[in-house]
Amino acid sequence: MLFRQLFDRDSSTYTYLIARRVGGEALLLDPVRGALSQYLRLIDELELRLVFAVDTHVHADHITALGDLRTETSCATLMGAQSKAECVSRKISDGERLSVDGLELRALHTPGHTDDSYSFVSNDRVFTGDTLLIRGTGRTDFQNGDAGAQYESLFGKLLQLPEQTLVYPAHDYKGWTVSTIGEERAHNPRLQVRSKQAYIELMQGLRLPNPRLMDTAVPANLACGSA
Ligand code: FE
Repeated sequence: MLFRQLFDRDSSTYTYLIARRVGGEALLLDPVRGALSQYLRLIDELELRLVFAVDTHVHADHITALGDLRTETSCATLMGAQSKAECVSRKISDGERLSVDGLELRALHTPGHTDDSYSFVSNDRVFTGDTLLIRGTGRTDFQNGDAGAQYESLFGKLLQLPEQTLVYPAHDYKGWTVSTIGEERAHNPRLQVRSKQAYIELMQGLRLPNPRLMDTAVPANLACGSA
């Protein structure tokens, strides 16, 4: 597997480049518009052909590169079935599999942070978007967020994966880069609750400020970054 974890400093977003081999097909997960030239350079240097650009959900904190990547590379742009982004080439649903040169990514609908949040499982790892962060979870107080749904996504889906599964989130603000399902189950403070109700109360008590770019990023991202 050819795998790169890229980081956008402005929004603390991780973007993942996934391919099977140099010279083959590639997928970009959660690309940021400001890093477009970096992605195109890396794809060119590794002689890859970008086939998919995917967002785990409609982001509120940065503008997506989906539209620009489709223009530049003719890749397909994908988001979840619940997304209101009408600009994408295709919408994916729970259980659907994407193939990159035979390397499979299985889509898991993991709502809660937003109603259109998806995670993607591939072999030994899971890309958790903003559903499960390292030692945290994505906020649930806007964009159809729902702490109860997030509890079900976490405990009913993500924590059911084998404990050695590597966890790659869409953001990190503290310098973490990767974790495992077992490590998060044991040490993530948000996962130490005894019930769904306790989780809902924990999330309701956070009172976070809105993201700086929310008012511009959400409408732009509903148009794949080109609004
Ligand atoms: Fe988000």
